[in-house]
Amino acid sequence: MSVERVLTIGVLALQGDVREHRRALERLGARTREVRKPRDLEGLDGLVLPGGESTTIARLLHESGLWDELRERGREGFPIYGTCAGLILLAREILEDRPEGLGLMDITVDRNAYGRQVDSFEADIEIEGIGPFHAVFIRAPKVVRCGPDVEVLAEYDGSPVLVQQGRLLASTFHPELTDDPRVHEHFLKLVRA
Ligand code: GLN
Repeated sequence: MSVERVLTIGVLALQGDVREHRRALERLGARTREVRKPRDLEGLDGLVLPGGESTTIARLLHESGLWDELRERGREGFPIYGTCAGLILLAREILEDRPEGLGLMDITVDRNAYGRQVDSFEADIEIEGIGPFHAVFIRAPKVVRCGPDVEVLAEYDGSPVLVQQGRLLASTFHPELTDDPRVHEHFLKLVRA
């Protein structure tokens, strides 16, 4: 019988809903650590980029020196899960030109596709390998293009809302805001893979 090693997952803590992600991961038995500086990445098994405001997070990533470090690690296969603003940051292309993405995931994103009127909404989606899931969207971006290496795990209204490429995972919704741990659980499986 093998005992699973306890994973240590970083949560980028420059801005955004950090605490909710930590709670979701800890409920699944992972250790978590807030990441603010490149040295905080040492020894981590994976990283979560939370939701928030993507231009602000991008600016703080540059200021903290984390930008180049994350880009390099991401290219080398370090597991990263981005929610909402985190998804925007992982993207290769952003229609609004701002912020610049890390370019790790071969997707094109429309940052404010749902406009101001539809600030947030909830929807029941179907996730491949997981099943029905109640998803919370807050000023959600839209994924408008996926490259050939990107797997679409869930769609809403004809657009991808959960995508995976290698050990990178990204959602336009916020599973950390509901009590359902299954998307974080899927990420931890990717980390172990
Ligand atoms: N649309 C926001 C942005 O551009 C992201 C919203 C969110 O993370 N909840 O940063």
